[in-house]
Amino acid sequence: MPEPTRYAELLGDDETVIQGVLSEFLPLCAIPHPSRREEAIARHLEKVLRSRGWTVELDGAWNLRADLPGTPGLENAPLTAIQGHTDMVCAVRRGSGYRPEDDPVAALRDGDTLRTDGRSSLGADCNMGNAAALWLLTRPIPHGPLRLLLTAAEEVGLEGASRVDPAWLEGVACLINTDGFRLGDLVVSSAGGRRETYTRPLHTVLRQGSRAFRLSFQGFLGGHSGYDIHLGRANPIKLMALVLGELRETVEYELASLAGGHTPNSIPMDCSAVITLDPRFVPALARAAAHVSGQLSSLYGRRDPGGSLELAEVQPPERVWTTPCRDGTLDLLSLLYTGVYAMHDTIPDRVSASSNLGMVYADGETITVRTFLRCTVGFSEEILAFQHARAARSTGFELASHGYPGWPGEADDPLAKAMARVYRRVTGHRARITAIHAGLEPSVLRAKNPAMDIVSTGPDIFDPHSTEERVRLSSLPPYVRLLAGTLEELALRPPGAKKTKRKKV
Ligand SMILES: [Zn+2]
Repeated sequence: MPEPTRYAELLGDDETVIQGVLSEFLPLCAIPHPSRREEAIARHLEKVLRSRGWTVELDGAWNLRADLPGTPGLENAPLTAIQGHTDMVCAVRRGSGYRPEDDPVAALRDGDTLRTDGRSSLGADCNMGNAAALWLLTRPIPHGPLRLLLTAAEEVGLEGASRVDPAWLEGVACLINTDGFRLGDLVVSSAGGRRETYTRPLHTVLRQGSRAFRLSFQGFLGGHSGYDIHLGRANPIKLMALVLGELRETVEYELASLAGGHTPNSIPMDCSAVITLDPRFVPALARAAAHVSGQLSSLYGRRDPGGSLELAEVQPPERVWTTPCRDGTLDLLSLLYTGVYAMHDTIPDRVSASSNLGMVYADGETITVRTFLRCTVGFSEEILAFQHARAARSTGFELASHGYPGWPGEADDPLAKAMARVYRRVTGHRARITAIHAGLEPSVLRAKNPAMDIVSTGPDIFDPHSTEERVRLSSLPPYVRLLAGTLEELALRPPGAKKTKRKKV
C-alpha cells in the first residue's frame, strides 16, 4: 500500500491531524509557562503521559523524562528519544496589560494560521512540535522503545538541558529534536554561544577643551547576532571606534562618554559619544565626520541604508575620561572581531563561526564591552577567544566569559539521510539537510551521550519570540507523517546498524 494512503488510514486526513495536534497544544496554552516557570506545565504533562501508560520522571529543574515500550514485535529495537523544550519566550505587546506569569496564551485559528490575540507570543516554539509528537503517540503507529525528553528553561541559555542527568540519555541511539521552525529542514548542526564581558575601571579628570560635540551613529538595522550576521549590516560601535581612533592622529580631544548597543547577542543599531576639544580643532572634526558620513553609502547603501552619522554641539560636561581609558577602550573596540568568521565546512552557504561586538557603555566606575561568539566547531571558538583575550590584555581590560558548546554535525549525517528518505516518501517533497547559526539543545545533550545521532525538525513557525508568532497549520500533517515514518524506519532499519565508516564529528 502506498505510504501516504497508509498514513491516512493510521492518522486520518489532514484536518483530523490538525485537530488532533491542537487538542494537545491548546491545553498547554492555558498554563502560563515562561522560562523558569515550568512546574505547572511539567506536572500537567506528567499527568497526561501517566494516564496514557508512559513511565514518567521529573527532575529538580522541571525537566521531564517519559518512557514507552515498543509496539508488539518492535520491543527490542534501539531506543529513540523525542526531545523538545516546554518553556517559551513570552513576548508582550506594550500597553496590553498581559502578565506572562499569570495569563494564558490566547490562541486563535485564522484559516491556515494559528496565532494569538496579539497581546503575547504563541509558544509554538517549541510546544507545537511537542504537541505533534504527543498526539502522534496516541495513534496506532508502529514504533520501537521511545523516550520523551521535555526540558525546561531552554530560552535562557539551555539551562534545563544543561541540568539533564546524563543517565537520562544512556542507551539512546537517535534523538529527534522538535525545535525546528521550517517544515522539511533537517538541522544537523548548531552554534555554540560564548558571552564575553570586558571591564576596566573608569577614571576621569577635569575637562580642558571648551567646546563639546556629540557624534551619533544612528538608524542602523541591527538584528539577531546569529541569523542576521551574514547580511552585511553595519556595526555602529565599530564605526565609532574607527572615527574616534583615527581622529586621535589629527585632533587633540577628550572623550566624555561612549555608549552603543543594547544586548550582546543583537547587532547594535546605534552608538554615540561626546568629546570635548579646543575651538581650533573644530574644522578638523567636522571634516572627519563629513568624510565618514559620505562613505557610509558606499559600503551599506543597499544593506543598511537608513544609518547616518550626526554631529551636534552640546553643553560641555565637567569631567572626561583619562587618556589611558580613552585609548584602551578605542583600541579594544578596534581589535575585537565582528561579523562572519568562518563558513560551514560541509553544509553550503551556512555560517559556522561569527563574533558580534554588541555593547559598550560606562557607568560611574566601570567601562564595559560585551561580545557574543557563535561557533559550531570548538577550534574556531578557540581562535577567536585567543584573539580577544590578547586584545583585552593589551588594552588594560579584564575578560570574563561563559557559554555552551557547538553541535558540529555534517551534511552526510546518517539519521538526517534516513529522515530525508522518509520525508520524500510520505510527502513527495525533498528535505533540506542544513545547519543553523544559533543555539540548540542538541549541542548540550550530545556532550552527555556522544554516540547519539541527532536531527532537529519542526513545523512552519514564523516570527518566534514576538507577538506575531504564528504556525502554518497545513505544515502539521506532513510534519506528523515525517515523525511517524521516522519512528517506524528507526525501529525496522536503524541507521546505526551499518555505521562503519562514519566520519568523525
Ligand atoms: Zn525553541
